[in-house]
Amino acid sequence: MVSIASYNFAGQKALIRVDFNVPLNDQYAITDDTRMRATLATLNKILNDGGSVILMSHLGRPKEGPTEKYSLKHLVSHLSELLGGKKVAFANDCIGQEAIEKAAALQAGELLLLENLRFYKDEEKGNREFAEKLSKLGDVYVNDAFGTAHRAHASTAVIADFFAADKKMFGLLMEGEVKSAEKVMHEAQRPFTAIIGGAKVSDKILIIEHLLQKATDIIIGGGMAYTFWKAQGKQIGNSLCEDDRLEKATEILAKAKALGVHIHLPMDSTIADKFAADAQTTNCESYSIPSGWMGLDIGQKAVADFKEVIMNSKTILWNGPMGVFEMEKFQNGTKSIALAVAEATAKGAFSLVGGGDSVAAVNMFHLADQVSYVSTGGGAMLEYFEGKELPGIAAIKDV
Ligand code: AMP
Repeated sequence: MVSIASYNFAGQKALIRVDFNVPLNDQYAITDDTRMRATLATLNKILNDGGSVILMSHLGRPKEGPTEKYSLKHLVSHLSELLGGKKVAFANDCIGQEAIEKAAALQAGELLLLENLRFYKDEEKGNREFAEKLSKLGDVYVNDAFGTAHRAHASTAVIADFFAADKKMFGLLMEGEVKSAEKVMHEAQRPFTAIIGGAKVSDKILIIEHLLQKATDIIIGGGMAYTFWKAQGKQIGNSLCEDDRLEKATEILAKAKALGVHIHLPMDSTIADKFAADAQTTNCESYSIPSGWMGLDIGQKAVADFKEVIMNSKTILWNGPMGVFEMEKFQNGTKSIALAVAEATAKGAFSLVGGGDSVAAVNMFHLADQVSYVSTGGGAMLEYFEGKELPGIAAIKDV
């Protein structure tokens, strides 16, 4: 597989799939440009080599073809600004004559942004003819959109078929994501602790089942933990519980035991009399919560127990908060675990934080630069943790 860092793009037109699916306000101004900034390293590498760049992306979920609201033209001026004032050309259609001509006219160091790929249904359908038309625009294909790597769309996977093995590669952002994910899932040094939290067991079952084959310890926090307590016949009051997953939780506990994987549940919780920022709160054992009360965060004892496990780990994977961290009263568990992960990282552990809310949490506590890697991959990273092959990765690796 070709590595972008060692590839010389001089005189080459790089067709790059980026994730510019950024939020826009009513005036079409970008309210969070994180995803655009994340690709700058890749763009600068290619432009500095003397290559030219053709960018393709989706934006939003347009239902009926071209829609003003979802036009990528709204991103042109900001992209130019991010690139220090470089001119960015725009093609009003991602395929067709205008795109062909503008791509052909690109000189070294120039950029062209194509209109939203999802104005064509063919994109999400993974249509081969559409993918082939896109492929004709560039000499080299670079995929830097890890966030869509779990989709077998035309521009994220199918298109790779139209490039030779030495003409397709990951961008720097995607390469970082793939390397960290592989390090955790395939080369983890043990003890390997997975910290799984968040609201629902049902969302995380596949991940936990897959991690049973990989991890030495699995810490379960957040709302999910109470289903595991109830499955053992315990009192969880009005805490979140998925009664249709009780059997599954029992099965997971038994499987872990058989495999010698330690599952750690929070022994105590901060409980509240309502799901609200101004609720009455107290501390209580997680397995005897009175009726009318609900566990909204892990307690001090749980924090101490979990911290001990984390500090002993060489590899840490974290997905999902330990409590309702959006409310200050229920923040302590998630914050303490974030600090513990940072501390273990400083001691030499490799830590990967992935999946929406745990990423939001490390950012909230300003700890993102104190863990080894923070994934921007959301759903794609979750599917990777579930053990699925991601089409966007396979399309480039399987050459
Ligand atoms: P997820 O998207 O599954 O990772 O879930 C994240 C959400 O889980 C966050 O919005 C948290 O507020 C919520 N959450 C975490 N712990 C609890 C809890 N004990 N009870 C209810 N919701 C929780």
